Amino acid sequence: MSLQKITRDEGRRRRRFLVGAGITAGAGALARHLPLNIMQPAAAADPVPDAPVQTEIKHTVCSHCSVGCSVEAVVSNGVWVRQEPAFDSPLNMGAHCAKGASVREHGFGEHRLRYPMKLVNGKYTRISWDQAIDEIGDRLLTLREKAGPDALMVIGSSKHNNEQAYLLRKWVSLWGSNNVDHQARICHSTTVAGVAQTYGYGAMTNSFNDLHYSKAVLFIGSNPAEAHPISMLHFLHAKELGAKMIVIDPRFTRTARFAHHYIRIRPGTDIALVWGILWHIFANGWEDKKFIEDRTYGMAEVRKEVAKWTPEKVSDVTGVPEAAVRTAAEMLALNRPSSVVWCMGITQHHVGTANVRALSILQLALGNIGVPGGGANIYRGHDNVQGATDVGPNADSLPGYYGLAEGAWKHFATVWGVDYEWLRGRFGSKELMEKPGITVSRWYDAVNEQAQYMDQPSNLRAVFYWGHAPNSQTRLPDMKAAMQKLDMLVVIDPYPSLTAAMHGRQDGVYLLPAASQFETQGSVTASNRSIQWRERVIQPLFECKTDHEIMYLFARKLGFANELCKTIKVVHNEPVVEDILREINRSCWTIGYTGCSPERLKLHMEHKHTFNPTTLRAESGPCKGDYYGLPWPCWGTPEMKHPGTPILYDLSKPIAQGGLPFRANWGVEHDGQSLLAADGSTNKDSEIDTGYPEFDHVFLKKLGWWAELTPVEQAAAEGKNWKTDLSGGIIRVAIAHGCAPYGNARARCHVWNFPDPVPVHREPLLSSRRDLVAKYPTYDDKANFWRLPTLYKSVQAVDFSKDYPLIMTSGRLVEYEGGGEETRSNPWLAELQQHMFCEVNPQDAAQIGAKLGEYIWIETPTGARLKMMAMVTPRVPAGIVWMPFHFGGWWMGEDLERHYPEGGAPEVRGESVNTGWTYGYDAVTMMQETKVSLCRLARA
Ligand code: SF4
Repeated sequence: MSLQKITRDEGRRRRRFLVGAGITAGAGALARHLPLNIMQPAAAADPVPDAPVQTEIKHTVCSHCSVGCSVEAVVSNGVWVRQEPAFDSPLNMGAHCAKGASVREHGFGEHRLRYPMKLVNGKYTRISWDQAIDEIGDRLLTLREKAGPDALMVIGSSKHNNEQAYLLRKWVSLWGSNNVDHQARICHSTTVAGVAQTYGYGAMTNSFNDLHYSKAVLFIGSNPAEAHPISMLHFLHAKELGAKMIVIDPRFTRTARFAHHYIRIRPGTDIALVWGILWHIFANGWEDKKFIEDRTYGMAEVRKEVAKWTPEKVSDVTGVPEAAVRTAAEMLALNRPSSVVWCMGITQHHVGTANVRALSILQLALGNIGVPGGGANIYRGHDNVQGATDVGPNADSLPGYYGLAEGAWKHFATVWGVDYEWLRGRFGSKELMEKPGITVSRWYDAVNEQAQYMDQPSNLRAVFYWGHAPNSQTRLPDMKAAMQKLDMLVVIDPYPSLTAAMHGRQDGVYLLPAASQFETQGSVTASNRSIQWRERVIQPLFECKTDHEIMYLFARKLGFANELCKTIKVVHNEPVVEDILREINRSCWTIGYTGCSPERLKLHMEHKHTFNPTTLRAESGPCKGDYYGLPWPCWGTPEMKHPGTPILYDLSKPIAQGGLPFRANWGVEHDGQSLLAADGSTNKDSEIDTGYPEFDHVFLKKLGWWAELTPVEQAAAEGKNWKTDLSGGIIRVAIAHGCAPYGNARARCHVWNFPDPVPVHREPLLSSRRDLVAKYPTYDDKANFWRLPTLYKSVQAVDFSKDYPLIMTSGRLVEYEGGGEETRSNPWLAELQQHMFCEVNPQDAAQIGAKLGEYIWIETPTGARLKMMAMVTPRVPAGIVWMPFHFGGWWMGEDLERHYPEGGAPEVRGESVNTGWTYGYDAVTMMQETKVSLCRLARA
């Protein structure tokens, strides 16, 4: 279907439908009708009474953002005919945004990949699955022999369900490499690193619903009105109850228009601003002294750094008036509990991890962690970024954040039922087995880099793009060059993605049609750590196969199918999803993915209506006492019936009822100071009334609790700790005594193992404030970082600001998601936003004589030229331009439609902002910089 064929009437009908499903209507309904369980579904036509059809309702979850909105899919004789927005879900309560309201398109998917294809002389031609698996498999085996297993990179997906994500990490491990990664690298790896190293776990602390309790909320570098629309309903409810709203963003976003206090910040100066806020908090004695005393380590070092950030200095660096900074501090301090919400405006910087830590520390100083209405609330992007990070394909860890050390591999070898020595033999060496792999943000550098500078034996020579859009990564011309050098490029996706069109190759490319999340079942973890079970709505369309079937077929061809599925039943080539989850239950003790059995998750989905939409606790029914989706950690075995942990680090509840202290993850003392919580600072009903280390067999014996393990548990737990004891006995006994398995410690304000133990402001790599570059320089270049040389100072040393005077930044739109192929192929959504555009302030537009709706060129220091429409608007200030990142399908002015497989080009195509994005990577996680660079404009 093309846009031209849509009649005006059809267009109007669609617009009415989508507006009705969008945030405005939802917000109004929510505000008027709380308590929320009285909302009723709109009347819908019944199926024709006499029709010989079998209609059933399947319960599933929107596959776009991470709010986790439930969808009721009405299926007649195997055809998905209608959808309703699940009025009984405590997460979305009958509201959907436009994206969620149109997921039924997956049941038609005219632009989907329909069958396997292979590029022959520049044309995609149909092949069979057998041929595809055989040919690709043979090429992989040859490559393995010639160049070793690390010549392959598998780019996995946050759109896989938990089981597929886990199986993919296992698959790549059995292949013998750590060169595997997924979208979290480029959206929230800095969050995971920063928050985990401060509090203990790298996840959102509270929930969307918990915002109902907030008295003030700071949104910084986040635009939930567009990126997470239904989450806004929860905040707007808090606002109705009197919560203050602060928005910090360079651009006046749709979220900012709700704010009581809007602060326009110069991009890349978040740390200076946060320290400026904290300066006022300390100056006025607004900090929570008892919380700091009892539960934090290193706040004195933070005070020293904050003292440097006087109001004048903050104002000079950030561009924010002094009074505005003080107002924000006062609103947060005097309206507690206050919450902080951040997103990619904070994370996607070369100082992303430091940004995250500054905000984490702000919340510690205010005593806002571990309380309802407080928290560090970090909204993930895709539907399963959280779950895929927790148990899926990460270059630096096995599932459950076990890391890559020998002990971690031995733990999983036992769980998988494979011999550790055999597993080690699959890798190039033990050293490579224990070394973090190539990241998705840099895979193309691992192709293009000179071999002698690589920290692995070979460059990458084959890449699988498995459910991942290339236009969500930066520096696309370098990526295109790498694609051309590869021996083989394989795309596995429901839609062909820009990968299929941008490579410019004649052969060596395969497109494999994957089923969507509506064509399989499995669990998915929302941003608040709630895990939901999706039922299979329809059978895979066309010749599509589920991702886990494709993994199995490749494993069979490559010779490790038995190891992949030793404890997992395989039916018709599909590993049974429930069995995969049970394996996750048996292995991922660290994050408490152990109590969430398939049976418990299915029961929650079936009884959604029994959960309170503010507390998420079931008040009646068979799940009574549980929190919705068993937000992790859900400790122990399923039989232990732990209810899940709705708020991390909450001392007011016993551990058995969802409470937790900060995690003891860094020993018991540092520099002569105790890292354990102060006396009296412990969970309700804890039998240990002070801080304590993590539990292991020695500690349990010292406490005299060893005898409480059964003989079978004792045999399994001997020599083990709470993470590696496969019986779960250590965890069971610790919780029975009211203790957290991972100990009771202090949050770290001073992280001695980071490049900046206390965050410091560092100017962006491409800064127009050259005077500040000298004062606040970036890091030194690194010869070897995640297997690659990585540049900092040598990039910053070049002054591009004279030729490229404008700051460029990017963000999201409500209509589209991620790289956008899925949503831009959806005609309902495509109609809402038909052109890639660049927001330009009227003053800057006047400089080149551009008017609203005219095409302009955006030119960046890489030599890239991007052609897009000018959106002339004061939403951005003079000197800054903003572009959405979901577009693709054009290449520097050229429409690539003819390069897609026939019928596979999305309805809406446009220039990808990431084609022009410049160099820059976080100094801890290799997160790419996409929020501050330089560009110039020209008339097209
Ligand atoms: S995109 Fe996000 S907010 Fe919108 S319906 Fe889906 S899950 Fe909900």
